[in-house]
Amino acid sequence: MGEQIRDLDINKLTTSKYNPRLELGDLAGMIETIKRGGIDEPLIVRKKKDKWEIIIGERRYQSAKKAGQKTLPCIVRSWTDGECLKKSLIENIVKKDLTPIERASGLKYLMKISPEEFPSQRALGELFKKDESTISVWLSIIDFPREVQERIGTQRGQIDLESATKVMKNLPKVRAIRFIKKAASKNLSQEAISQSLKLYLNKVVRTGRPDKMYDKAVPFPSFFVGCKYNCKYCVSSFQPLMKRRPCELCKSYEPHIHYDRFWTKPSKTTGKDFLFQCDCGDISFADPLTFHYLITYCRFYGDRTFLIQSKNPACFHKYNFPDNVILGATIETNRDEITKKISKAPLPSIRFKDMVKLDHRRRMITIEPILKFDLKVMLDWIKKINPEVVYVGYDSHPKNKLDEPTEAETKRLIAEISKLGIEVRKKLIRPAWDEKTRGYLKTR
Ligand code: SF4
Repeated sequence: MGEQIRDLDINKLTTSKYNPRLELGDLAGMIETIKRGGIDEPLIVRKKKDKWEIIIGERRYQSAKKAGQKTLPCIVRSWTDGECLKKSLIENIVKKDLTPIERASGLKYLMKISPEEFPSQRALGELFKKDESTISVWLSIIDFPREVQERIGTQRGQIDLESATKVMKNLPKVRAIRFIKKAASKNLSQEAISQSLKLYLNKVVRTGRPDKMYDKAVPFPSFFVGCKYNCKYCVSSFQPLMKRRPCELCKSYEPHIHYDRFWTKPSKTTGKDFLFQCDCGDISFADPLTFHYLITYCRFYGDRTFLIQSKNPACFHKYNFPDNVILGATIETNRDEITKKISKAPLPSIRFKDMVKLDHRRRMITIEPILKFDLKVMLDWIKKINPEVVYVGYDSHPKNKLDEPTEAETKRLIAEISKLGIEVRKKLIRPAWDEKTRGYLKTR
């Protein structure tokens, strides 16, 4: 038996908040068709007080209004809110009428208002006859930064969702955003993006350099700036960059605190991302009250992960850091005599002991800039510190002429740390600045 179609007064129809489409697109063609032949396909509506809420057919309704129609053919249903959204989503997804962000928002909302029917992505997959991984890609756009969301689509200057998801998954956030913006502006095809991502990732594996910063670090203003340890490589390479800062104390690298920055809302972190607090100095000069501010700040943003790092990890001992904080220390070598020549920071053997003493579960070690070391001792230290991750990298300014190990020695260290089941993230990996000369001298 056919469904009963009623001609309803167009003025009694109203739009629905359950329509996932935010943009109705160009209606000119549809208006013309309606003017010539009216509407064949009825709208689906439900009763809402003294009006009829349009569940399916808002484009036809808006076009008919513009075409001067007085009534519209409608089928009346008594659907629940969840059913309305579900039917509307199915209709639009089948017709490919939704933008990726409309589709993801609609699906998320459906899971929210019908949690029993759609408790998981698998349940959504069954509804749309898609596998779980497709639904996961569809939903991934929700967590992307705004500038990425805006570039996903099929128009010029946009890229497809699958490619964007792949890039976001494989590259550090800042780098991924840059990559996506570039790919979108060049109108690269899916295949070209895939190829370019592959080339980039190969380069990372080859050089070990995904980015100058920690690969998982999310940009975050430093509360603590300055340091008195005068490491040779910092004085000649990093500190001159601070001269461009507007703050006089930053320019002089005098230890100081930017208390105003405690009001900054940090970006979200996902997966293994973290907010790196100490990239402009060493936090060890901070007084107890400031440490308490910092800990309160980290607790307040408990859904983010923070990395707090120092060359004097004893400064962490007096405090109780929450679990969303990773505490780190730089240990460039185990040989105190090398460090003594280039830094006033506590010696590596002291840093090691202070890291072992640390009463905090989440730890990190950075071996950067790597200096000549004894493999056995380094491995023993790392085992005892038991960090969740170790970063390894050479000085990015070989002109500092540090006492560097050979590339092969560094690679061996990386392999051995990995064997301990500890994640190693490579930064700049290259031959020692004097490796060729050393080889030359040896062969003579
Ligand atoms: S401890 Fe860190 S911030 Fe201080 S001088 Fe050395 S490298 Fe620079």
